[in-house]
Amino acid sequence: MYRITELANQFGLSRSTLLYYDRIGLLKPSGRSESNYRCYSPSEKERLESICSMRQAGVDIEGIRSILQTAGDDTTEVLKRRLAEIGNEISALMTKQRLIAGMLKLQGEGGPRNTVDKDMFVSMLRAAGMDDNAMRKLHAEFERKEPAAHHAFLLSLGISEKEALHIRKWSADLGRNQIMDYFYEIYEAMPRQGPGSDKATLKALSMLPSFPPDTSVLDLGCGTGSQTVALAGQLDCRITAVDNHWPFLNKLQETTKQKGLTDKIEVKEASMLELPFAPESFDLIWSEGALYIMGMEKALQSLRPLLRPCGYLVYTELTWFTENPPEEAAEFWKQGYPAMLNVEGNLELARGNGFNVIGHFPLPVEAWAEEYYLPLKHTLAQFIKRRPDDSTASEVVDQINAEIDLFVKFQDSYGYCFYMLQKKETAH
Ligand code: SAH
Repeated sequence: MYRITELANQFGLSRSTLLYYDRIGLLKPSGRSESNYRCYSPSEKERLESICSMRQAGVDIEGIRSILQTAGDDTTEVLKRRLAEIGNEISALMTKQRLIAGMLKLQGEGGPRNTVDKDMFVSMLRAAGMDDNAMRKLHAEFERKEPAAHHAFLLSLGISEKEALHIRKWSADLGRNQIMDYFYEIYEAMPRQGPGSDKATLKALSMLPSFPPDTSVLDLGCGTGSQTVALAGQLDCRITAVDNHWPFLNKLQETTKQKGLTDKIEVKEASMLELPFAPESFDLIWSEGALYIMGMEKALQSLRPLLRPCGYLVYTELTWFTENPPEEAAEFWKQGYPAMLNVEGNLELARGNGFNVIGHFPLPVEAWAEEYYLPLKHTLAQFIKRRPDDSTASEVVDQINAEIDLFVKFQDSYGYCFYMLQKKETAH
């Protein structure tokens, strides 16, 4: 037990602060000494420690009280959340500060006005140091966060309904593009763009019969091509690696040169939704973590004609491992990938669309954890360091982190599976 003055000294507080905390019920000592001094237990000391750190982070007394009531043992998490909120509040305040400074500057130049119209608003933003690009970003941010308020605000500036809708349209597009750009920036820095490993790729390949030298292979949605290179190491034939994002292909081209594989790997920029290949062009179509983009059924239907008779289709696909997924995981994927099937569902879909199943196996946890999520965590940390005050960037990072956290929690319930299929000669 700690006497009141002893505890106050330890935390650099005055005795009256602890008396105050007692009076308002924030920190009540559970004991009294013989001479009736207040005595605090070790857990009350711990509670005081939390109170002090929250005070330091700027949480007010009522905030602390509610955090302590709801937080249980998760105080650190709550604090982290609060700190993040503070960051957002600071940047919102800084924007306000810039705007007000701009207004003051304008007042100095031409005197105050009663209403803000479009011209006034634009000159205010200019005075606050914003260029056209920054203004467009402001609209994009406004549209993303509060579309209805954005609309009302534009009308309040005297802008016509038609122009307001036009501004909102490009704001929305800009917001979307920004998010896409960030995703690409993150994934371009990664050694692979989806879960997988050379070991798993080669295991899947070893479950197929061996291929003669003139075999033609398509690697679809190849990304920067980690699996393309693994396949090229084993197969004595040409692989066409297709993706619709040129920077990924460019990186694969560099790797191909470095590893002396230029006569084996050819990159091609194309969309899997409109593949520029004649029927029966390939003996083997490979696709890791990419067919979900088309949807599995459409993928099976559109790839089958590209295979020669008895050709093979090998892919990885996000798969439920259980009949009854935990609610939290089910809810997440209901938003993210509602078409996700279980193993049996995938096999049935393949058989129903003109394929025989040669085999299937789940990707081992290392192929997620070490080969994918570990570099992803590292890449995200670097990415956010470059953009400390960018709320779109933090949203992208939060989204990816949520997916990682969910996987870690529910890795027994779902994961990627490799499926090895062979084209059946008569469909259905
Ligand atoms: N196979 C790689 C990449 C998987 S991520 C790996 O496992 O590491 C999915 C890939 O599909 C990305 O490279 C993305 O650019 C590509 N992609 C997305 N939409 C596409 C489309 N419509 N056509 C072709 N590729 C596409």
